[in-house]
Amino acid sequence: MAKDKLVVGNWKMYVGTVEEAKRIVLKIRRTALQLEHTETVVCPPYVLIPFCVSRKGNKTVLIGSQTVSFEKEGSHTGEVGASMLRDVGVTYVLAGHSEERSAGDTDQIVSKRILAVLDAGLKPIVCVGENERDPGGSYLEVLKNQIKNSLHGIPKEQARNIVIAYEPIWAIGAKGAMEPTNIHETMLFVKKTFSDLFGHGPAMKVKVLYGGAVNHRNALDIITIGKADGLLVGRESVNMAGFP
Ligand code: PEP
Repeated sequence: MAKDKLVVGNWKMYVGTVEEAKRIVLKIRRTALQLEHTETVVCPPYVLIPFCVSRKGNKTVLIGSQTVSFEKEGSHTGEVGASMLRDVGVTYVLAGHSEERSAGDTDQIVSKRILAVLDAGLKPIVCVGENERDPGGSYLEVLKNQIKNSLHGIPKEQARNIVIAYEPIWAIGAKGAMEPTNIHETMLFVKKTFSDLFGHGPAMKVKVLYGGAVNHRNALDIITIGKADGLLVGRESVNMAGFP
C-alpha cells in the first residue's frame, strides 16, 4: 500500500539515554503499525541511531538523522558522513533545520549537505521557513529564495528523492501552530516554487511537510484543512502519548 503521508519526529536533544530511546521507538513502532497510509520516521541524535534501528530489519519506523557532514571522508574531526549514516540504517536526513541555520548553515552549505545525502542514496528533508510574517507578504520572497538557493545545483532526476519541510521559525516551539488555511496557501506556494525548479511532474509528487508546534490536537487539521503531505514534529515527538 502506497504511503502518501510522512510523519517525522525530530528528537533534537530531548532524549538523553539509550534506554529512553529504545522505549520511545518501541512505542512509536506499535502505533505506526496501525497507520496504513503513513510513513513514520524518527530522527534521534547520532549516538542513539544504532539503538533505534530495528535489528530484525523491521521498517515500520524508518530512521532519519538530524544533520550530516557535506564532506565524504577524510580529516574532518567530529563530522559524520552520509555513507556512514546509510551504513547504520538511516533513510532520511534533515538538511537546513532552522536551528542549524541559526548556528551558521547558509543556503550554500545546505545545498552541499543535500547533495551529499543524495549522493549516498539517502533522502533529504529540506527545512525552509521565514523568520516572521510581514503583512506586505515579503516573507514569500524570503521563502522562495531559500528554496531556490538551498536546492541550487541539485540534478532534476533527484527531485523525486527530496522532501521539503516548511517550518515557519516563529511557530517552532511556540504555543500554537500556524492556521491550517494559511498552511494550505503556503504548501501551494512551496510546490509552485519546486515546480519552477524541477517542473510540474516532480512538483505534483513532492511531499511538503508542515512543522512548528504540531501536537496531537492540531495534527489532523493540519493534514486535512492545511493539506500538508505530512508533519515534522519536534517536542511532541518524544511525548509517549502524542506521536505519531
Ligand atoms: C522543529 O524544530 O523542527 C519543530 C517542529 O519543533 P516543535 O514541534 O517543537 O515546534
